[in-house]
Amino acid sequence: MSRLFLKNPLAILSSGAEGGLVVEDGRIAELVPAGAAPLQPVDETVDVSAHVVLPGLVNTHHHFYQTLTRAHPQAIDRELFPWLKALYPIWSRLEPESFRLATRLALTELLMSGCTTAADHHYLFPGGLDDAIDIQVEEAAKLGIRVTLTRGSMDLSEKDGGLPPDSVVQDADTILADSERLIARYHDRSEGAMTRIALAPCSPFSVTKRLMIESAALAEQHDCRLHTHLGETEDENRFCEEVFGCRPVDYLEEVGWLGPRTWLAHGIHFTTEECRRLGAHKVGVCHCPASNAVLASGFCPVNDLKAAGSPVGLGVDGSASNDASNMIEAVRHALMVGRLNYRSAEAVTARDAIQMATEGSAACLGRTDIGTIAVGMQADLALFNLDELRFSGAHDPVAALVLCGATRADRVMVKGEWRVVDGMPVGLDVARLRAEHGAAARRFA
Ligand code: ZN
Repeated sequence: MSRLFLKNPLAILSSGAEGGLVVEDGRIAELVPAGAAPLQPVDETVDVSAHVVLPGLVNTHHHFYQTLTRAHPQAIDRELFPWLKALYPIWSRLEPESFRLATRLALTELLMSGCTTAADHHYLFPGGLDDAIDIQVEEAAKLGIRVTLTRGSMDLSEKDGGLPPDSVVQDADTILADSERLIARYHDRSEGAMTRIALAPCSPFSVTKRLMIESAALAEQHDCRLHTHLGETEDENRFCEEVFGCRPVDYLEEVGWLGPRTWLAHGIHFTTEECRRLGAHKVGVCHCPASNAVLASGFCPVNDLKAAGSPVGLGVDGSASNDASNMIEAVRHALMVGRLNYRSAEAVTARDAIQMATEGSAACLGRTDIGTIAVGMQADLALFNLDELRFSGAHDPVAALVLCGATRADRVMVKGEWRVVDGMPVGLDVARLRAEHGAAARRFA
């Protein structure tokens, strides 16, 4: 079993590891204090004196397929409901090959930005794309990135009072049967798991109450997590009041989702009392600052939710509303948007924003084996160097990543394996992927 020593980091987000850390068998085996050497002999040493070493970033909300419809002329400059209505018919053209390329491209972008664990929320299963999650499992395994893939779903179409057209929804029985199939086949509950499955009915305005209730029961039965969009817009609040006669958080409680198994995307339009309830039940919230800004959805009350007891993580959200899949950029967005929201420069520090993208996100996914640099944790690391012009003159290396606007990692390790070296994904032809994905995207014009 080989031992790898990452020696003398320029900065590292872990106390007691100022001299570096030792990786063995996919985990962090030892933290080395400043000026010290590893306690046991090592087989390989990598000098990281030019690198800032962070825990691998964890993305807790995305829609990989949307990389095919970025900056789409029919959707730009619209808010959520009209944006969705413009895109649903275009997305109904999804088929396996373009979906595979979209998944590969999004995961590659994420890896290159320092992300080591990604959650995707895939809820579109037009005819022929029944194996969407199977395709995602294959692509993630090829790239060596850790994933929580959610079996998303929509079963409430326009004809039944929902927002999406008939062409993009499925019936609840099909969805629940496929959810069970995917859990049985791929959901790994063990420590250090590379693949986990979660269940993710899309949103209150595209899913029936029955599907919400039965998904919660399945998740309980199979010990997997639950995910959905909630509290994203005032339109959603109005929809819930009209259709369900209550606000979204009441609805969540009514369908059996108000518990620590659940993490929500967005979480913007909550009252103080609703934040308190979510926190008391340990419901996680994925903050999506870029998407919330682009769609003008509003501000997620991250500090109120944290104070109430909710884990708060970070997500890039779908690539049609961000329109990038870059986690270190999301960290910068979280700092800027958080300070604007609270009208306070102290409200979200650089380290607070990184904490959201690491520990906070890991907690949203229910993981205790990733998100920090400590002995026994999985060896998931993002290493950034400060060689670019934008960092010249910076003094605090960790704050510089966020304030000077880092865009890509120099090295990324997942489970002890290098997946990005010299800023490039290992074993993947980026130019070819760009060409193939760009060609595939033409059918969505
Ligand atoms: Zn989303």
